[in-house]
Amino acid sequence: MKFGGTSVGSIESLLNLRDIVNASSKPVLVVVSAMGGFTNQLLAMCEQAQQRDISCLDTLEAARKRHHDAIDGVVVESMRDEVHATIDHFIDDSLKPYYLALATNPHMPVDEIERMCDAIVAHGEILSSAIVAGMFDDGVPHLSLNYMRTVPDGHGRVLDWEETGRLVKEEFAAMADGVHVAQGFISRDKATGDVTNLGRGGSDYTAAILATLLDAEALEIWTDVDGFMTADPRTHPDATVIQQMTYAQAQEMCDAGAKVIYPPTIAPVAMKHIPVWVKNTFNPAATGTVIID
Ligand code: ASP
Ligand code: MG
Repeated sequence: MKFGGTSVGSIESLLNLRDIVNASSKPVLVVVSAMGGFTNQLLAMCEQAQQRDISCLDTLEAARKRHHDAIDGVVVESMRDEVHATIDHFIDDSLKPYYLALATNPHMPVDEIERMCDAIVAHGEILSSAIVAGMFDDGVPHLSLNYMRTVPDGHGRVLDWEETGRLVKEEFAAMADGVHVAQGFISRDKATGDVTNLGRGGSDYTAAILATLLDAEALEIWTDVDGFMTADPRTHPDATVIQQMTYAQAQEMCDAGAKVIYPPTIAPVAMKHIPVWVKNTFNPAATGTVIID
């Protein structure tokens, strides 16, 4: 079950997430995005820091409060202190030093700046996943930096399926009972170990990769719309939810710009014929869209 930014973005939505996971009769691996808007903020703060604009630290304090408020609203009491401390640790010992380094080092080489910003942006998912794992008495946290591997590809990077497959099988070999929680989006370079990511919106892809490698029975993408629609509901008020589509149809709609799921998500699950459900965290009773062939 993958939960996107809005699904982990507020106390209300996190409580819905908890109910949805608890309602499952099957073992669940939860893959989360960063709290809604936080990835954009982390990147905007990188820009500000490079301009030596230290007011980015104010945004960071607001984000700290947002995460702490969420913890007080949703994390089980026995875990609260620990999760508060985790958030503070990553903000004070990791994010702040990175931003200060960017702001005070005008001669930093471009590739080092890029590396630092990649390390910074990974914190969105690291923080949100700490909260989500702390919502369940039997939460089992995983760190996607330990098993998702990328390799350079032209100007970008792609998943290294072989190495990732090996590491994922190791990490999840004896998947104990409990609610397993992992970060979407984040990865490491296979050769250098540098923190990388699967591109903006990449958490869907992480979930599809894990579903594929672990032979999941289904992939559920929990988002903030009822499913794929026949048209953009903002411009076409009579648009309706498409109840069922093929992988090819879903791929075509994603490629054409339907913002429901990240386009690379479809291919791996299609290969294994794993059904993909697109469901609304804010309206879980709605049937959603199922993608099968
Ligand atoms: N947090 C990342 C982004 O905003 C990845 C994701 O949410 O899928 O792009
Ligand atoms: Mg998304």
